[in-house]
Amino acid sequence: MVASSSTQTVLVLGGGIGGVVTANRLRRRLDHRHRVVLVDREEDFTFAASYLWVMTGHRTPAQVTRPLRRLERRGIDVRIGTVEGVDPQAHSVVVDGQVLTGDHLVVSLGARQVPETIPGLADHGHTFATLRGAKQLGAELDRIESGRVLIATASPVYRCPAAPYEAAFLIDALLRQRGVRDRVEVVMHSAEPAPMGVAGPQVSGAVT
Ligand SMILES: Cc1cc2nc3c(=O)[nH]c(=O)nc-3n(C[C@H](O)[C@H](O)[C@H](O)COP(=O)(O)OP(=O)(O)OC[C@H]3O[C@@H](n4cnc5c(N)ncnc54)[C@H](O)[C@@H]3O)c2cc1C
Repeated sequence: MVASSSTQTVLVLGGGIGGVVTANRLRRRLDHRHRVVLVDREEDFTFAASYLWVMTGHRTPAQVTRPLRRLERRGIDVRIGTVEGVDPQAHSVVVDGQVLTGDHLVVSLGARQVPETIPGLADHGHTFATLRGAKQLGAELDRIESGRVLIATASPVYRCPAAPYEAAFLIDALLRQRGVRDRVEVVMHSAEPAPMGVAGPQVSGAVT
């Protein structure tokens, strides 16, 4: 991949699944004279696809969390800090006020959630899109005796098109297990015209 005989540095920005997989793959493919540096503001990697299982109690937060520094055992340098600026021309980034320069940049900083843009949502709504939120929502679902659970998507494009529907089915099953399903209504309100539209009409139709 890297033709030059000199030592090269790849800066991978973001230690989510995108950044971690990229850093691992690069580390395996590149000669060890080249450096792979992964930067994230969090100490820990958490596996978002399992947050819903944390919500249902089938996983603990610890089971879906790993320290990013473990990647150092594989020869990946890990830098914990906030990326404050990126200069694509210079292949440099500012991390906590310090400039890091590489030969190649991989930007995998994910999508930022902005619940505060919907009045009341951040203060009164729950989320399963964060590990903490999934745990809190699970505790709430363990307590609920009656009422209504409203699952809402606020825009047609969001981080995981399957998650809200998966959540609806899991919440339905959880409430049945607890014997309160007949007293708790589960309502799905979606901003998209049909579920999982990105996967095509066949998959979309199978969800409903
Ligand atoms: C409940 C749920 C279920 C899901 N289920 C599935 C599934 O079954 N299958 C599937 O394929 N996908 C699923 N997804 C989607 C999948 O988790 C995301 O697509 C994936 O996490 C995106 O990975 P990423 O690395 O691009 O971004 P992220 O996971 O968001 O990672 C970005 C990283 O960048 C870091 N970062 C951001 N900004 C900065 C900064 N300025 N400085 C330093 N670090 C920064 C963050 O701390 C984070 O670690 C699910 C998502 C959720 C929420």
